[in-house]
Amino acid sequence: MSDTPLQSATPLDTLLAQERTRFIASHPRSMALARAAEAHYLFGVPLHWMRDWPSPATLFVQQAQGTALQCADGLRYRDFCLGDTGAMFGHSPAPVAEAIARQAARGLTCMLPSTQAPEVGQLLQERFGLPLWQLTLTASDANRFVLRWARAITGRPQLLVFDGCYHGAVDDTLVDRDPATGGTLPRASVLGQVHNHASFTRVVPFNDLAALEAALAPGDVALLLAEPALTNFGLVPPAPGFWEAAQALCRRHGTLLVLDETHTLSSGVGGYARAHELQPDMWVAGKAVAGGLPCAVYGFTEAVGQRMRAAKTAAPEGHSGIGTTLSANALTLAALEAALRHLHTPASYDHMLRMAETLEAGLMQRIARAGRPWTVTRLGARMELQFMPQTPRHAQDVRDFGQPALEAFTHLFMLNRGVLLTPFHSMMLCSPATSAEDVQALLDAFDALLETVP
Ligand code: PMP
Repeated sequence: MSDTPLQSATPLDTLLAQERTRFIASHPRSMALARAAEAHYLFGVPLHWMRDWPSPATLFVQQAQGTALQCADGLRYRDFCLGDTGAMFGHSPAPVAEAIARQAARGLTCMLPSTQAPEVGQLLQERFGLPLWQLTLTASDANRFVLRWARAITGRPQLLVFDGCYHGAVDDTLVDRDPATGGTLPRASVLGQVHNHASFTRVVPFNDLAALEAALAPGDVALLLAEPALTNFGLVPPAPGFWEAAQALCRRHGTLLVLDETHTLSSGVGGYARAHELQPDMWVAGKAVAGGLPCAVYGFTEAVGQRMRAAKTAAPEGHSGIGTTLSANALTLAALEAALRHLHTPASYDHMLRMAETLEAGLMQRIARAGRPWTVTRLGARMELQFMPQTPRHAQDVRDFGQPALEAFTHLFMLNRGVLLTPFHSMMLCSPATSAEDVQALLDAFDALLETVP
């Protein structure tokens, strides 16, 4: 790791080197913990993604509460990353922390439902609209199992996804669209991949109804698995009317519409589908759904439920390939109940949306005043600062116009000024704990960024 700019360094390289030096000087304890952790963890971290932040060493966390995150060096950050959405309702929200503490002494996992299971099912229906539910521990699991159910009940082999999608560690979805042929390519970054993606997954550009219809037309697509807006390849919102038309196309071709709202839960109470009156056949949410404890849920209609019962009953006894042992454990159910009751509420979202609107307006004013060719795209409580003149329409726009080096610099610059953004792209999320002071601190840091970046 060298912090000395090369002779051919760009102005941004020089600025980045300064920020790296500043981080190292102000984080001696994190640096020491990083060295100690090297002995026991691959890349010095218990999950290698934790090294994917643009800081020169890992930021080790002492504690996090609400939007305040304190690192090992005692520095405090206003957190707009919120665990990449896992902590969308703030860190350790009190009702969830209390429910976990209560349940912790009464059994953690029994592979049997705890007594509050029916009540939790009722709350899931009230909040998200669908009548039937299953639980998993991660959104990746939920998507993997939904995919299996959909193929089982339709008897169709194909999965359809949008270019730039991310639905977790799900082999079938880790694909890219070949821009030359429109075919399916394995995603080059994925390790140990041997799946035959081209045979079983189709990829179409987001917001492209003609391509969607062409992919559905052969009548062999079990499901369209999609986020209502792309959130993992830059924030790409749906064009007006896109989802109504896409939903109708899926119906016409007998393809199940599965919406993965793990990130778009930020849209409003109950998620994007609820707010926009879409009617998916199946619906997935993970990460924040139980307030940050590992949990994901998938819901489905009565009609889909009947087909699932029939498929399971017709199959021989044995492994279904669906489920994991600790799923729906007692601790998770307790946290989920508290989250559904106290966090997924209009009061939470009113505050989150108000803070997000203020932040968006402040960023846009500053961008306009400075005459920068940048924009901000917002989806409810989540927004992204995009270093391109217009909101992207699909993944290819992000590939063509994105500026990863500037994004990485922005992330580290903000971190060094006490504001945490989501790494990879400049995503910001407002929680019920986000205060007007948090928003102002981010805007102040952005003012400093505008003065610094040439
Ligand atoms: N779906 C979406 C839309 C996601 O953004 C993610 C993670 N970023 C996942 C699924 C997978 O979540 P997890 O890593 O918790 O399994």
